[in-house]
Amino acid sequence: MSDLEAFRAETAAWLEANCPPEMRQPARGDEDACWGGRNATFKPGQKEWLDKMAAKGWTVPDWPKEYGGGGLSRAETKILNQEMARLRCRQPLSSFGIWMLGPALLKFGTEAQKKHFLPPIARGEIRWCQGYSEPGSGSDLASLQTSAVDEGDHFVVNGQKIWTSYADKADWIFCLTRTDKNEKHKGITFLLFDMASEGVTTKPIELISGASAFCETFFDDVKVPKTYGEGVSSVVYEVNKGWDVAKYLLGHERSMISGMGGGGGSLSLGQQLSDAIGRDENGQMVDPILRAKAAELDVDLLAFRAMAERFGDTFKAGMCHPAQPNMMKYAGTEMNKDRLELVMSAGGSAALEWESEASNGGKKSRDWLRTKANSIEGGTSEVMLNVVSKQILQLPNK
Ligand SMILES: Cc1cc2nc3c(=O)[nH]c(=O)nc-3n(C[C@H](O)[C@H](O)[C@H](O)COP(=O)(O)OP(=O)(O)OC[C@H]3O[C@@H](n4cnc5c(N)ncnc54)[C@H](O)[C@@H]3O)c2cc1C
Repeated sequence: MSDLEAFRAETAAWLEANCPPEMRQPARGDEDACWGGRNATFKPGQKEWLDKMAAKGWTVPDWPKEYGGGGLSRAETKILNQEMARLRCRQPLSSFGIWMLGPALLKFGTEAQKKHFLPPIARGEIRWCQGYSEPGSGSDLASLQTSAVDEGDHFVVNGQKIWTSYADKADWIFCLTRTDKNEKHKGITFLLFDMASEGVTTKPIELISGASAFCETFFDDVKVPKTYGEGVSSVVYEVNKGWDVAKYLLGHERSMISGMGGGGGSLSLGQQLSDAIGRDENGQMVDPILRAKAAELDVDLLAFRAMAERFGDTFKAGMCHPAQPNMMKYAGTEMNKDRLELVMSAGGSAALEWESEASNGGKKSRDWLRTKANSIEGGTSEVMLNVVSKQILQLPNK
C-alpha cells in the first residue's frame, strides 16, 4: 500500500469513528453552519466536531502546523476532502478567517502576526468580518473613503462600510482604510481591529426574506492601536500597500465563492432530479428534456471540477494567471445558478415551499435564492468578465 493509500484508509477510519451523526447531515444553509467566535452558539454535534477537527489541524488541513493547521500536502488535503465528501461529513467551521484573512496573512503577515492571529482562526475562537464595500465603492472598490489617520501610537478610523456580512456577529474586522487621499490604489491600508472597539456600530440590513445577513458598519473616531503586543502590527503588509493584500484576498474569496472547495460529494443533478420526479422502467429520469439538460449541466460541473483542480495545483506552484480566480468565479457562480434554476423548474410550485420538515426548511428554494447573490458578492459577473476580457483575452480596453 502506498503512503497516500494508507493515509486515505486512516483518514476514512478516523472520520467514521469521530464525526458525530448530526454532522453527517447536510447543513440547511449559512445559519445552520458552525461559525465559531467569542459568542458562538452550537447546534448538536457542532462543538464536538469542531474541537476534534481543530485538534488535528483539519479545520485548515493545508496550513502549517505551527499556525494551527494540519501540515498536509496538497495530495493529502485532496484525500481528506474526498473522504469527507464521500462520508458526507460537514466542514467543521465556516469562517471568513479561514477563507479570506488566513491566506492573506500567510502571504503578507509577519511571523508575529501569523502566530498571533492564525491559531485562534483555526480553532474557531475569533470570528472575522470583511470591511471592504462602502456606499459608492463596490465594483470600484479602490475609491473607498473610510479614513485611518495616524495619531502616533494609534490610528483614528472614521467612515462607513456596507454589505458587511455578519458584522453584528463578528469579533474582529479586516478593513480597508484610506491613509493617503492623493493616491487611489497606493493610498489604502489593510487594518485589523476589534469590533468591540469604542465607536464601532452595526445596523443590520433587513432582506425581503426577513433574514439580515448584512450590516451597515459605522466607524466614529475608532482608536486602533498600532500594535497588539510584541511585533503584532494592526497593519497587514505596509501602510499604503493594502491594495496588494486586498487583491490577493479577493482571489481567495473568489475561488471560494466559485465553489471550488466543494469536494465533489453531492449527488449529481441527474440523480437529484430522478429522485425528485421519478424514473422510467429503465431507471432513467422520466422527463427526457430535463434529463438532457441535467446531463449537460453535470458534464459542465465535471469539467469545472477538473479545471478547479488544475487551477489549485498551478496556484500552489505560483504559476497561475492572476485573473484566473475571476474566470473561476464567473464560471462557477453562473453554472451554479443554472443548476439551481433547473432544480426549481423540475420541482414545480412545491419547490417554493420553505417551512416544512419535508422540504428540510425549504432547502431547495433557499439554495436557489442564495445563488443569485453569489454572482454579486466578491465582485459581480460583469466585472469578472471585464477582467477576463482585458487580462486573459487581451481585448482592447475601450
Ligand atoms: C451576499 C453578499 C455578501 C457580501 N458580503 C460582503 C462583505 O462581507 N463585505 C464587503 O465588504 N462587501 C460585501 N458584499 C458586497 C459586494 O462585494 C458588492 O455588492 C459587489 O462588489 C458589487 O458592488 P455594489 O453592490 O456596490 O454594486 P455596483 O458596483 O454599484 O454595481 C452595480 C451594477 O453595475 C455593474 N457594474 C459596475 N461596474 C461595472 C463595470 N465597470 N462594467 C460593467 N458593469 C459594471 C455591476 O455588475 C452591477 O450589476 C456582499 C455582497 C453580497 C451580495
